[in-house]
Amino acid sequence: MRAPRVAVVGVGSIGSMVLWQLSRSGFDAVGFEQFGTAHDRSAAGGESRMFRTAYMEGANYVPLLKEARKLWAELEDESGLELLTMTGGLMIGPRDHYKIANVIQSTQDFDIEHEILEPADVAERFPQHILDEGEVAVLDHEAGLIRPELAVFAAVDAAERRGAVVHRHARVDDIVEDADRVQVVVGDDVHDFDAVVVTAGPWTPRFFPALADDLVARKIVMTWYLSDDPARFTPGAFPVFGRVGGVIDTFGVPSLEGTMTKIGSVNTFGDISDPDRLGRDIELDELTHINNEVSRCINGLRPDPARISVHMDGYTTDEHPVVGKAQGSERITVMGGYSGHGFKLAPVMGRIGCELATTGETSFAIPHMNPQRFDA
Ligand SMILES: Cc1cc2nc3c(=O)[nH]c(=O)nc-3n(C[C@H](O)[C@H](O)[C@H](O)COP(=O)(O)OP(=O)(O)OC[C@H]3O[C@@H](n4cnc5c(N)ncnc54)[C@H](O)[C@@H]3O)c2cc1C
Repeated sequence: MRAPRVAVVGVGSIGSMVLWQLSRSGFDAVGFEQFGTAHDRSAAGGESRMFRTAYMEGANYVPLLKEARKLWAELEDESGLELLTMTGGLMIGPRDHYKIANVIQSTQDFDIEHEILEPADVAERFPQHILDEGEVAVLDHEAGLIRPELAVFAAVDAAERRGAVVHRHARVDDIVEDADRVQVVVGDDVHDFDAVVVTAGPWTPRFFPALADDLVARKIVMTWYLSDDPARFTPGAFPVFGRVGGVIDTFGVPSLEGTMTKIGSVNTFGDISDPDRLGRDIELDELTHINNEVSRCINGLRPDPARISVHMDGYTTDEHPVVGKAQGSERITVMGGYSGHGFKLAPVMGRIGCELATTGETSFAIPHMNPQRFDA
């Protein structure tokens, strides 16, 4: 029997990994990407992403994260590139905050190497952070940073070397399914497939209008700060961190180029009605909250960003992604709405996308990602 021919619509963070997994499993895989590969115009740009295993968003992600870590290592082996650098990660917040409870639950339910640090321990071991009374830091030894542009490049390159085809600067206008096939329409060209995986990030509702109320594009801004003492913010000295319970939630990644440290805001900068029109300018007064939080929580950074970059992601109303067969479809899989925390999961999502497209099922437990959960 002929192996299924599968299209991947959107070769970004997740699509690149679906393509890699399809090609690794011997399927005939074809990607369509409206821009070039490894671009920074939606969710994959901005130099770094956090990888965490003790998970703020829920312990049910931990098996996926453990598998993702293995797959990151396999992609590193295959590409010869360093994609995931383990630095450890500090998850900081009030002891009774639900996200800190999720982190601790993750460490209890699964075998995650970790330490629980009181403010005095943090002051001694990680004096860059200022903790308040009542706050705690969980040091997740299974955390680190990922290089997102390089990761997309590596996955696409690995897929192409195994025979996958990628159409770059090919914007998909429509996806049309009938009983025997599904067609991908790009301008005047129509391509036939057995199955399609839609990994269109913030553009996902274009293909699934029924999701439009529950999956929206949001602007996310990242900011880099200079330090008088950059050695204190290198990967060896400054673990990645996530911090909750302040005026805004923040995260940080050590300096990769040696001078600037990325401290980002988890909070988004509002919904975007049209992802084709992401405004990439930002008013400095919009950054006040994050600058204030840098002053309040971090020792040794100058609280005015030296670099700013603007991106977006698809957000669902419950901030869990939408992964599964599209409503009423046998042949179309939707994978979107990663809500600001999808990059670390990308390789395992690649495996899930490959399984769903070629068998209709997945071996991973993802009921919280069911696309039909929003139906009234
Ligand atoms: C600033 C920022 C910081 C983040 N930090 C973290 C972090 O630290 N850790 C973490 O795990 N996650 C993080 N995330 C979240 C993570 O990056 C995203 O959840 C993830 O990248 C989403 O991937 P995606 O494939 O859905 O979207 P994308 O990577 O945007 O891919 C979608 C692709 O589809 C293409 N496309 C869309 N429509 C079409 C069409 N019609 N035809 C052809 N191609 C099309 C787009 O051009 C794009 O390449 C962050 C996100 C942002 C924006």
